[in-house]
Amino acid sequence: AGLSRVHDRRGDRRGPGRDDRRHAAAAQRHRLRRPGTPFPRPRGAAPAGRHRRDARGAHVRLLGAVGPGPRRCPVRRHPGVPGGTATAGWCPTATAPTAHRPACAPSRSFVQKLTATFLEEGGDLALRGRRRLPARPDRRRLHVRYRTADGTLRAITCDFVAGCDGDRGVSRTAVPDGELTAYAFDHGIGWLTVLADAPPPAHPLLATGREGFAAHFPRGPHASRYYLQCPPDDDPGAWPDDRVWAALRTRLGDPALVPGPITDREIFRLRSLVHDPMQYGRLFLVGDAAHIVSPMGGKGMNLALYDADVFARAVRDVVRGDDSALRAYSERCLRRVWNDQEFSHWLTRTLHDAADSEPFLRHLARARLDRLFNSPAAARAFAELMTGLDPTGDAVSRNVLGNLSGDGD
Ligand SMILES: Cc1cc2nc3c(=O)[nH]c(=O)nc-3n(C[C@H](O)[C@H](O)[C@H](O)COP(=O)(O)OP(=O)(O)OC[C@H]3O[C@@H](n4cnc5c(N)ncnc54)[C@H](O)[C@@H]3O)c2cc1C
Repeated sequence: AGLSRVHDRRGDRRGPGRDDRRHAAAAQRHRLRRPGTPFPRPRGAAPAGRHRRDARGAHVRLLGAVGPGPRRCPVRRHPGVPGGTATAGWCPTATAPTAHRPACAPSRSFVQKLTATFLEEGGDLALRGRRRLPARPDRRRLHVRYRTADGTLRAITCDFVAGCDGDRGVSRTAVPDGELTAYAFDHGIGWLTVLADAPPPAHPLLATGREGFAAHFPRGPHASRYYLQCPPDDDPGAWPDDRVWAALRTRLGDPALVPGPITDREIFRLRSLVHDPMQYGRLFLVGDAAHIVSPMGGKGMNLALYDADVFARAVRDVVRGDDSALRAYSERCLRRVWNDQEFSHWLTRTLHDAADSEPFLRHLARARLDRLFNSPAAARAFAELMTGLDPTGDAVSRNVLGNLSGDGD
């Protein structure tokens, strides 16, 4: 993540019509480079077929290296759900069409592989340290100012800026007030997230019941990440080790759950946020800088990757002389964002309303889960949403699912 310079001055002088393929290949890699260093020469022409092969190769390198990952995720409804008994089900993502089966990758390993692959291919991660964006990003050219690790102030002239600096970054704050509409939603739910040196589960496990939602995810061969639903303003100090393990055993329906030293615990609120449009002039917001999704459904990083892919392809088209995709960037990304927001909201309610919601909502949550496991049509729809089929109907970017609730780091 961070700011990506995607087009160099030399490209402007030559104009989009000349040697499109070389420019396209260079733009597609959208490298960051230090000011003053020559723009990297593309390694030969890159016709469409080669790009597709490259994309497949990158997919294998990124996901193959982190292993196949679980494709199923048990949902445990333990005693306590009104009228229910202990049952176990399988998330039916396996029913997704073969071409769209999800790959699961722990977020941290995925980002490590992504960075390593970028560097291997000649990318430059020079832009570190504090950066400032221009006060008026709607100018013809943008100047991104930043400070290097040794404190030197530098500036880069850009044709486009991708603001990929997350929800608390500086890109969005460069947009004048009133230009973006923020749609914010607080789910009224907190998660206590706990990292422990305790045996990982065979599969990521979700559980729901009157005591509240809980989840157990592997974090490497010897560690686990746990989530426990709690009031959003709860204090982590109110959750000593004994209380954590007792709650996990009850909610996961596993009295024999093996504990271990807790190395990290914190509480955060489940919230959702969309900024519309995802663009101001030549500044394009990408990923969490534009939208936050509740973690249920594992959509946040997938959306960030989708935005980045759409943006990179749109800039490549601009270099070739066609700016229609760049003009449609925000509208196209927002369609997918709202689709995933809806799914994530649905899953959040389905797995959390069994707790202390009003009885009517508890019964609705139970009915939704029953439908998921009893209706093949409902299971298929769930699988499609979970695996992230693109509602716009094209297959620009295959969804790369992290685990269901990420690594929480
Ligand atoms: C508990 C939890 C679980 C999750 N689980 C999943 C999951 O399973 N699957 C999934 O797809 N998503 C998941 N997500 C969401 C996912 O983590 C985010 O959506 C994703 O990381 C967004 O990526 P990003 O690059 O847009 O932003 P970020 O990951 O926030 O990256 C922004 C980067 O920019 C840097 N930055 C900011 N400002 C500056 C500056 N001025 N100068 C230099 N650098 C700067 C930040 O340090 C950061 O490294 C989860 C989130 C949470 C909280």
